[in-house]
Amino acid sequence: MSRPMPGARDHAVVVGGSMAGLAAARVLAEHYARVTVLDRDVLPADARFRKGVPQGLHAHALLARGREALETLFPGLGAELVAAGAIESDLFADSVWFNHGVRLAAAPSGLIGLLVSRPMLEGLVRRRLMERRNVRLLERCEVRGPTFDSRLDCVTGLEIDVGEGRQILAADLVVDASGRFSRSPSWLQELGFEPPSVDEVEVGIGYTTRLYRRRSGDAGGKRVVAVRGGAPRYRFGVALAQEDDRWIVSLGGYFGGNPPADQESYDAFARSLPVTEIADIVANAEPLSPFRGFRFPASVRRRYERLPRFPAGYLVTGDALCSFNPAYGQGMAAAILEAMALRDCLASATGPLAPRFFSAAAKIVDTPWQIAVGGDLEHPLVKGERTLSGRMLSWYIRWLHRAGALDASLGVRFLEVANLLAPPAALLAPAIAMKVLRGNLRRLHHTAGQARGASLLGGLGSVFR
Ligand SMILES: Cc1cc2nc3c(=O)[nH]c(=O)nc-3n(C[C@H](O)[C@H](O)[C@H](O)COP(=O)(O)OP(=O)(O)OC[C@H]3O[C@@H](n4cnc5c(N)ncnc54)[C@H](O)[C@@H]3O)c2cc1C
Repeated sequence: MSRPMPGARDHAVVVGGSMAGLAAARVLAEHYARVTVLDRDVLPADARFRKGVPQGLHAHALLARGREALETLFPGLGAELVAAGAIESDLFADSVWFNHGVRLAAAPSGLIGLLVSRPMLEGLVRRRLMERRNVRLLERCEVRGPTFDSRLDCVTGLEIDVGEGRQILAADLVVDASGRFSRSPSWLQELGFEPPSVDEVEVGIGYTTRLYRRRSGDAGGKRVVAVRGGAPRYRFGVALAQEDDRWIVSLGGYFGGNPPADQESYDAFARSLPVTEIADIVANAEPLSPFRGFRFPASVRRRYERLPRFPAGYLVTGDALCSFNPAYGQGMAAAILEAMALRDCLASATGPLAPRFFSAAAKIVDTPWQIAVGGDLEHPLVKGERTLSGRMLSWYIRWLHRAGALDASLGVRFLEVANLLAPPAALLAPAIAMKVLRGNLRRLHHTAGQARGASLLGGLGSVFR
């Protein structure tokens, strides 16, 4: 076996053949002579669920920024997906958004996302990746950990269990895309490196999901119904149109607050949401699957960008780097954007790769992390530091939504941020702040002015408590 040379670009190996791994492998295929993607699962040729990605049975959509980036990596993929039944949809005009106690006024936004089941999306991306002659897939392959050259401070490959038993696979670069249960922190420790510090926010999110037959008149012709909060607070519900005339409906809540898997409880939970569209689907559409549950205990961010020392020849990406509360639907988009950042880092070969990549990835992760954790900290039982600036932003976003009930341009702005096309600071631009103020003054004027005024001041008071 030849010894890999630091910085050489012969063989790159990706651990995990899910969305983060596939996107990373696509980028690596431009820069390395050979790319091998390893997965412990059997990877089906068609759009079938697999157990290595258990979240694949639950509501997934690809946000606008993620769709655009994926199209850059795989030109024509969107059209292929649509031909196979996926739906490209304006995520505002074609949607019902209820958030912070308000149903946002909808309008065309140009935020085109992809509505498709998770197995179908992954299956087509994998097929497109495998069209590249320098990429191969190794299934039923359990990765045991990296091999290491201590003289060079460099990862040199992986120890793997595959068919014939344990083997060493030499690599110039190993990318860990093995998901939220990544063992990189302990592998690094075994090699004599510090593990990354971890930001963790316990949310105990529970999902209960079921598929339904989608009829043309459902949900007033909308394709997305997304509800968060309302009364009772801290529940969420989402219905997404998918291929084959299906709805995927996921209902859930914090700390296990999802409905039990029976018709009566599911109907009652759907009826408790502050919009009627999901309850109508659940009560009237033909069920196409059993109920399925899922637990997401905590958002976890591993701060590799803060490590003073890191081995050459090794990277971590996707959920292995950061996995956030899925209620905001940002994980795949973030993973694809990290692959785009890797592409930029590989194209400008100045200095060690890992610090450059982790620093770029941290900037990508900042926005979805801020959105997810900011929303989570509104729940009184979620532990975490509630900074003054964070509370002020949450307070402002609540009032932005209230004005957004009448002014669709505010909802567009909010969704641009949620779709990772603009940073949260964009919501504070003077023109937006003026609209928020004017919109709320108009509302106050039209309703019981004094009582509402008191609640505005009361809300502001809670920020400073
Ligand atoms: C309920 C839920 C809903 C979600 N909804 C959305 C959504 O609407 N939109 C969105 O963008 N994101 C959503 N996400 C997030 C999204 O699923 C992930 O961010 C995305 O799958 C990227 O994950 P990944 O590729 O990093 O890891 P994963 O998808 O977890 O894949 C990891 C892969 O690594 C393999 N593997 C693991 N360990 C080993 C090993 N030792 N050896 C070999 N192979 C290994 C596994 O088999 C698997 O294939 C949701 C997540 C959840 C939980």
